[in-house]
Amino acid sequence: MKKNKVIIIGSGLSGLLNGCILSREGFEVTILEKEPEPGGNLKTFRYKNHEFETGVHYAGSLGPGQVLNRYWKYFGLTDRIRVRRLDQNGFDHILIGTEEFQHAQGLDKFSAILEPLFRNATKGLDRYVSALREIASAFPLYNLELPAGHREIQYAAQSARLFFTELDEWKSFNDPSVSMGSVLAGNNFLYAGSPVTPLHVSSLIHHSFISGAYRFVGGSGQIATILADQVRLNGAKIITSGGVVSIDYHDGNFQVKTVSGEIFRAPLLVSSLHPAMTLSMLNPLLLRRSYRQRIESLAGTVSSFILFLTMKPGTFPYFNYNVYYHKNANVWTESELTGDAWPAMYLLSMGCNGNDQKFADVVTLMTYMKFEEVKKWEYTGSGKRGSEYLDFKNDRALRLLDLAGKQFPGLIHAIDHITISTPLTYRDYTGIPEGSLYGIAKDFTRPELTTLTARTKVPGLYFTGQNTNLHGLLGVTIGSVLTSGEIIGLDHLLGKIKNC
Ligand SMILES: Cc1cc2nc3c(=O)[nH]c(=O)nc-3n(C[C@H](O)[C@H](O)[C@H](O)COP(=O)(O)OP(=O)(O)OC[C@H]3O[C@@H](n4cnc5c(N)ncnc54)[C@H](O)[C@@H]3O)c2cc1C
Repeated sequence: MKKNKVIIIGSGLSGLLNGCILSREGFEVTILEKEPEPGGNLKTFRYKNHEFETGVHYAGSLGPGQVLNRYWKYFGLTDRIRVRRLDQNGFDHILIGTEEFQHAQGLDKFSAILEPLFRNATKGLDRYVSALREIASAFPLYNLELPAGHREIQYAAQSARLFFTELDEWKSFNDPSVSMGSVLAGNNFLYAGSPVTPLHVSSLIHHSFISGAYRFVGGSGQIATILADQVRLNGAKIITSGGVVSIDYHDGNFQVKTVSGEIFRAPLLVSSLHPAMTLSMLNPLLLRRSYRQRIESLAGTVSSFILFLTMKPGTFPYFNYNVYYHKNANVWTESELTGDAWPAMYLLSMGCNGNDQKFADVVTLMTYMKFEEVKKWEYTGSGKRGSEYLDFKNDRALRLLDLAGKQFPGLIHAIDHITISTPLTYRDYTGIPEGSLYGIAKDFTRPELTTLTARTKVPGLYFTGQNTNLHGLLGVTIGSVLTSGEIIGLDHLLGKIKNC
């Protein structure tokens, strides 16, 4: 058995990035993926001849010299992906009740565009922008630097919600019930903002999008295709329809069994699955019960309810921005709503097919949904959940469309077809427990427990993906560098990335 053999479970962004790094470094890599094609959340799906994003709508910091752009150079992505920059004066439009605000790109422009909309806003906006600058600079890997000093730790133990609430003394000119804090956190669906969200999560994510916000022309599936090609070119194997069912350890090797009964062996194992899923497949003798219980007890971020709409040609305009609508300014509790109070917010985003697009081909309407709403169907399979489930989906779809239709009266008549996803759809597609949007919820009251390290208690087993570092394209990229860095040396790897 070669010493440098590694098995990677899952071929989403993290599985492919780790596969890319390790195969380039001479490791013999096998990636095991349960779906028929690699990509996980990067994959687009086809419906009625239209391409839809599953788990990526836009990316931050992809501009020249920006952090994701720099990391992705190493992976051969930067020069090959097709992107369109979102509107610089407003990549996200935040609608609260009848008021509209824009988040612009570039920190100075961001302040300048919001400033006239609030009473005496300069101090509040300066405080926010300075905090974003400081927090972004405190995270070494956000700046392609080696961790040192650990100045960043303090921000993981601070509450994002509290921070934004302190900015509530600045009120909108037109509607004093709308405060600056809720407008700045108006796109907190990006990180499933909840009362436990740490300040560094909201700040790094918001900073990265304000730095530069982009859509993928033709969808984010191109990232998966480019990475999978590279991985294979480096001699690695991607075994699709190869869902892992059990993990054992014998004579210095992990023995990973797939659904077909095939067994793969390697001394190193990198899993991009939710850590509780990984540990549930692992021989219980390899782990202390307390470690397993700790991981199993970690709460996930809330799930989502999504309408994928194909549009009649030439009927609904293409928006080169996203719309985050909120019924009122309570942006931190919307994810908790059920029953008649649901939905109180939505994100309206669109597929992008080029730089001169005039009309929307596909529109995605997303909102939160708690897993409890679909729990009674948890043991049913896709397409076999029964008529009550279909009625539930249709009822919730009508409610969401009703809410969006009030703001965009032309939307409903422009729809050609609708397909619906619930928390069960995401659970079954990505394997994430309860269809959680972004994996384990980071919690500022327990930062050290909710931020998992790549290195585990089992020698040779590493975690990677959105459940370790941060979710999202940037968070997962940095997390993948951390995981592979544990194996080949972070210093060595960062040096190569910086020299690209
Ligand atoms: C609705 C939605 C919208 C989002 N929008 C954005 C956005 O606009 N911008 C952004 O930056 N981020 C966005 N994200 C977050 C981003 O998509 C994820 O954080 C990121 O893609 C996660 O990558 P990953 O590799 O950790 O996990 P995944 O992409 O989930 O990959 C895990 C892989 O493991 C496979 N797998 C599962 N179980 C097994 C098994 N037993 N054996 C083998 N393989 C298995 C899965 O099939 C999958 O391919 C969004 C997420 C969601 C859900």
